[in-house]
Amino acid sequence: MDIDKGKLIVFSAPSGSGKTTIVHHLLKQKNLNLDFSISATSREKRGQEIDGKDYYFISPEKFKSHIEQNDFVEWEEVYHDNFYGTLKSEVERIWSEGKHAIFDIDVVGGLRIKDKFPDKTLAVFVKAPSIEVMETRLRSRKTDSEEKIIERLAKAERELAFADKFDVILVNDKLSEAQVKAEGLVEHFIS
Ligand code: 5GP
Repeated sequence: MDIDKGKLIVFSAPSGSGKTTIVHHLLKQKNLNLDFSISATSREKRGQEIDGKDYYFISPEKFKSHIEQNDFVEWEEVYHDNFYGTLKSEVERIWSEGKHAIFDIDVVGGLRIKDKFPDKTLAVFVKAPSIEVMETRLRSRKTDSEEKIIERLAKAERELAFADKFDVILVNDKLSEAQVKAEGLVEHFIS
């Protein structure tokens, strides 16, 4: 595939909507030819996360120097003092390997990518069936403190207001069904 044909597949959602599970499922479908866009972040590593696989974990100073050098496609202070962003070099890496980039990023970042590459981006908003289900999912993950869970839920409520700006809203009620729908959406967009 030539580099100009590379697309951007954005999956955005409030935490606890199941978007990460859907993105992992899509990455296993070799026919879709996707590679995960690894974001840079200044937050601390959690649980089993691996540097250079889940995120590029960098210091806030390094993050700020990338901002000054205009190295990001988009970046954001998602939570207080926790920066996240997509490096231009990351998208170029994926396209140069002849693949499409798939993103697991927050709602504002997802819309920024769609704004920058309107024709090359499929922006999917993943939604849990309700806020209560989202809360249960966040708690069962057991990786966040109570304070973080409350912060994430407040953010989730704000983010739901952006759903209509996405190309598609995918309700994740039954995971297996949402995964099949997601596959169909991506397949159609890249073909
Ligand atoms: P977490 O700390 O749970 O890994 O991620 C927190 C939030 O930041 C999630 O909504 C995640 O999707 C989002 N995020 C991850 N990478 C990026 C990025 O490159 N840019 C933006 N804007 N958000 C990101």
